[in-house]
Amino acid sequence: MQLSTYTKIFPYKNGHILYSVLTSASVLADAKTLNRTLAGKNRPEERKSLIELGIITSSSELDRHLAFSIIGTRDRNSNTLRVVAAMNLDCNLACPYCFEKRVKGENFYMDRRTASQLIDFLLKRLSGIKILSVDFYGGEPLLSLGLIKEIAARLQSECGRRGVGFGFGMTSNGTLLTPKAAESLVPLGFKSVRVTVNGPREIHDGMRPFKGGAGSFDIILSNLKAAAGKIAIVVTGSYTKDNYRHFPSLLDQMKKEGLTPDKVAAVKFEPVLASQSDCAGACAAPDEPWVADATIFLRNQVLKKGYKAPRTRPSPCSAHFKNNLIVNWDGGLYRCPGFLGNLRFQSGSLTEGPTAFINKHYLGAWRNKKCLHCQYLPLCFGGCKYIRYFRTGDTRGIECRKAFLDAALEGLVKQEIRYPGRLI
Ligand code: SF4
Ligand code: SF4
Repeated sequence: MQLSTYTKIFPYKNGHILYSVLTSASVLADAKTLNRTLAGKNRPEERKSLIELGIITSSSELDRHLAFSIIGTRDRNSNTLRVVAAMNLDCNLACPYCFEKRVKGENFYMDRRTASQLIDFLLKRLSGIKILSVDFYGGEPLLSLGLIKEIAARLQSECGRRGVGFGFGMTSNGTLLTPKAAESLVPLGFKSVRVTVNGPREIHDGMRPFKGGAGSFDIILSNLKAAAGKIAIVVTGSYTKDNYRHFPSLLDQMKKEGLTPDKVAAVKFEPVLASQSDCAGACAAPDEPWVADATIFLRNQVLKKGYKAPRTRPSPCSAHFKNNLIVNWDGGLYRCPGFLGNLRFQSGSLTEGPTAFINKHYLGAWRNKKCLHCQYLPLCFGGCKYIRYFRTGDTRGIECRKAFLDAALEGLVKQEIRYPGRLI
């Protein structure tokens, strides 16, 4: 037996943490346990559990095989069809940093015909699927509330007839999530909302104003408070180098306004560039040193103030998975929400079906010598294609996260030990 290629060792109090990048498991080891582990001389029971946790392995080939096959295994075993449906590319806010600016427009709304094609397209893909999960996206999806209700009602009823579970969430700016809107959606399968609150009121209102210039903070918090308990609420926030230190006071304001930790499923702050797309935590952070500091600082504040935060876990870019689809308002299919509306990355349509996408996005770029021997491979798989494109104008090559992970992983893992019940 030997230490896994993917085990990191961090000093912690009087001992060490053995952390598996492959399984996300952590073990606290005193000096004797660490020495036994490094020498391959664990006692039988200890050996058994360290193998199960992925901390030690019988061979580095097996280890690598497990890591290299994460994407394929997940793809084959997936029985959930996840669809991001961009209902429009319009918005009632005018955020100065908006990444969709170039592709936005008041006429870019899904119509009934496309909605009907979307429903047919999804229903045809339910063979072997146990759960259909839709994330309504935008622009601002609630500008298309009527059509969302029609789509959800039909999918709920058709999935029910087929014995397939159905639920939906949305990525919304929260301003139109009135109690009336939320109540009308819950019976149709509305489960969760992901809302961006960009720091405390004074920062948020400058970064996410209404088109007329008024601040949106108060209305968002009031809507979220009313929706709490009916749906899961995930608060995200996009910070910059200059303002991230002020973000913890948002958590105090949330508490003061009644959005207490028990009412919020998770809080996740990300640098502006990394948060420009919703890919369930897979998006990579840029590697400037301040980002690692900010990531550790902010997640620590979130956990310390009693809120929950996402765990660090293997997270290949969701664009790899055949059961993850992004549908644009016009019926175009994409692999990543960040590329919505960029025709160069359109990979099929609702009428023609998905077309080849692996090479178009260079998703196999991680199969190079550097990545194949990298300890962080399970957390990274070559990094985010969207950030790569944003920075270089091309998806070729990797967007290396090594510098970020070298600087941040130890701090993040220690938080996971310190606040075990607050990681989701
Ligand atoms: S390319 Fe990046 S933003 Fe897009 S799905 Fe993959 S990790 Fe997320
Ligand atoms: S891109 Fe960098 S951090 Fe990611 S797997 Fe490759 S070498 Fe490792």
